[in-house]
Amino acid sequence: MGADLSHENAHDHTTNGSTPHSAPGFRSEVARTLSKGPAVGIDLGTTYSCVAVCQRGKVDIIANDHSNRITPSYVAFTDRERLVGEPAEIQVGLNPENTVFSAKRLIGRPFDDPLVQSNLKHWPFQVVGGGGGKVKVQVSYRGLEKAFYPEEISAMVLSKLKQVAEAYLGRPVTQAVITVPAYFNDAQRQATIDAGAIAGLQVLRVINEPTAAAIAYGLNSSSKWKTKRNILIFDLGGGTFDVSILAVQDGIFEVMATAGDTHLGGEDFDKRLMDHLAQEFRNKHKEDISQSKKALQRLRAACEKAKRTLSSNVTANINIDALYKGVDFHATITRASFEDLCSDLFQATVRHVERALGDSGFKKTQIHDIVLVGGSTRIPMIQRLLSKFFDGQELSKTINPDEAVAYGAAVQAAILTGHRYQNLQNLLLLDVTPVSLGLETVGGVMDVVIKRNSPIPTKETRNFSTTEDNQSSLFLQIYEGERTLTKHNRLLGTVTLSGLQPAPRCVPVIVVTFVIDHNNILTVSAMERNTGKTNQLTVTDTRGRLDREEMERILQEEEDYRAREKAEQEKIEALNSLESTTLQLKRAAVETVLDDRAKRRVLEMCEETTAWMEDNQLAPKKEYEERKRELEEVCSSIITHFTTDGEKPYKGGLGEKR
Ligand code: AMP
Repeated sequence: MGADLSHENAHDHTTNGSTPHSAPGFRSEVARTLSKGPAVGIDLGTTYSCVAVCQRGKVDIIANDHSNRITPSYVAFTDRERLVGEPAEIQVGLNPENTVFSAKRLIGRPFDDPLVQSNLKHWPFQVVGGGGGKVKVQVSYRGLEKAFYPEEISAMVLSKLKQVAEAYLGRPVTQAVITVPAYFNDAQRQATIDAGAIAGLQVLRVINEPTAAAIAYGLNSSSKWKTKRNILIFDLGGGTFDVSILAVQDGIFEVMATAGDTHLGGEDFDKRLMDHLAQEFRNKHKEDISQSKKALQRLRAACEKAKRTLSSNVTANINIDALYKGVDFHATITRASFEDLCSDLFQATVRHVERALGDSGFKKTQIHDIVLVGGSTRIPMIQRLLSKFFDGQELSKTINPDEAVAYGAAVQAAILTGHRYQNLQNLLLLDVTPVSLGLETVGGVMDVVIKRNSPIPTKETRNFSTTEDNQSSLFLQIYEGERTLTKHNRLLGTVTLSGLQPAPRCVPVIVVTFVIDHNNILTVSAMERNTGKTNQLTVTDTRGRLDREEMERILQEEEDYRAREKAEQEKIEALNSLESTTLQLKRAAVETVLDDRAKRRVLEMCEETTAWMEDNQLAPKKEYEERKRELEEVCSSIITHFTTDGEKPYKGGLGEKR
C-alpha cells in the first residue's frame, strides 16, 4: 500500500550543522582512531591500485615489493598458491581461467545486473551466480574448484596494499580511506567497506575518486581556493572513464555532475593496436595468432608498451621473438596511425565532458581548472582534444595522474585520524549523493526525498499518512533513480510499519526520515508520531551484499589463507636458507686449506643436499631446518678439525656417509 504525501512536509536539512569537523561524533571518532597508528589512503582501481600515507603533512606514495608505485588489481590462483599484483598479472597468459581482474566491475552488483551479464561474456575467468542472486568468480585453486565473491577478490588486493604499507611504515596498518567512483551506489560502497573488513582494514571513510583527485590538485596548486573554483576532473584510466565537475570553496568539495563510460580506457586503445598488428601479422606471415592465447597476451603486452612510448615519441617499435609458430614479429607504429586507430574512442571522451558540463549547468568559461587523472591522460591527442574543446584552455598537469586519487585519500585519512597540519587546515570534505532517493507513492510515482547531488551527510524528514480508514500497516518502498515512475528506478528495500492505531484515513502522522551518512549510506526510518512505534532499514541491496554469516565464513577463510601463506613463506625461507648454507659450506671447503678426504666429504654432503632439495621442493619446513642443522654441524666440525694448516690430520669417522 502506498503512502499519502499530501500532508505537511517538514524538511530538515542538517548538512550545514554537521560538517565532519564540527560534529561531536567526529571528535570521538578522532580520539578512537589516533591511537591506532597511521591510516592509509587507497585507490582501489579497476586495473591498478595505489596506496599512500600522509605523515607530518607530507604524502608518500608507497612503492610495492617490485618497486612499483601502482599495483595491478589482479589475483591469480594456481595449484600451489595465490598471487596478487605483478606476479598475477605476468602469468595471465598462461593461466587465464584462474586469473581474476576487474573485480571492481562486479562488486556490489547482483548477478542479473545487465553490466555483469555483458562483462562476463568477455572475461577468461568464469563468473557464476552465487546464492541469493549474488555474483561469484569460479577458479581452480590448489586443485579444487573454488568460488569467491568480488569482495573477497578486492580484499586480496587490499590485503596486498596493506602489506606494502606495513613494510614501508614498519608497523601494522589497520585503518584506511578507500576511494570509489562518484557514481557508485549504496550497495557498491557497502561492498567496498566489506572488502576492507575482510582484508583486516577498518574503512574510516569511502570517498569519491574525483574528490580525492581534487584534494591532491588543491594541495599542489598555488591558489589555496580562497575563492570558489569549479574543477573538472577528467579521469581516463585502464578500463574506465569518469568526468566529474566539482565546485570547491573553503575546502568544501561539492560534486556538481558526473558522466563517463564504465568501458572506456587504456585497454580499449591496446586492443585497437593489437587488432591492427594481428592483421599485419596475418598479411605478412599468413598465420592467425588469435588461435593462441599466449601469443595474444604477448602481443597485448607489447602493444601497451608501444602505446606508452607513443605518448612521448612519434614512433614505436614492436619486436617479439617467436610470436607464433616460431615466427618473429617486427613492426613499427607511428603516433599518427595510433591516433587514427583510436580516434573515435578519443573523440567519445569529449562528448562525455560536454554532457557533464550540461548537467552541471556551467558554461565552458566557468570551469577554472581541468585536472587530468589516470594514466591514459598522457596520450597527446586526448589532451589536444580536451584543450580544444575548452577553447585552448591550459590543462592542469601538476599532479601525477596515476597517483592523485591515492594521494587525496591519504590526506583525508590523515584528517580523519586527527592529523591537522598547517597545509591541511580548512580541508572539509563534503561530497554529494550520486543519485536521487525517494519513496513510491500512489500510482507508482517516485516521490524524491533526497535529490541527486545533495551534499552529504544529510537528513530529510517527511510526514506521511494512511490512505484508508483503519489502515493497520504502512509499507514504504524505497527507490533510487531519476525517473518519474518507480518501475523505471531501482528498488533498494522496504520498511513496514505495522500495528498502527485504528484511525480514519489521513489522520495518523507517520514521520519518515532519510539519513545519509559520510559514506553515502542510507538509513530510512518510519515512526508513528502518536505511539512512537518505529521501524527502520539501513538500505543494503540484499541481493548485492554479503550477510553476516557469509562475512564470518569469509573472514575465517581469509585468516586460514593468511596462515597458510605465512607457513608457505616460512617454508620458502627455510629452503632458501638451506640452499645458501650449502653454497657457503661448498665455498668454505674449497677456500679453506683442507685435508683432501675431508674436503671431498664436505663437497659430497653438499652435493647430496642439493640433490635432496631438488627432489623435495614440497617438504615441510621442519625437514629443511633439520637438514640444515645436520649439514652445518657435520661440515663445520670437519672444516674446523681437519684444516691441513692446523695440526689435526683427518682420521676418518667424522662425516661418515649417512
Ligand atoms: P590507471 O588505471 O589510471 O592507473 O591507468 C592505467 C592506464 O594508463 C593503462 O591502460 C596504461 O596503459 C595507461 N598509461 C600509463 N602510462 C601511459 C602513457 N605514458 N601513455 C599512454 N597510456 C598510459
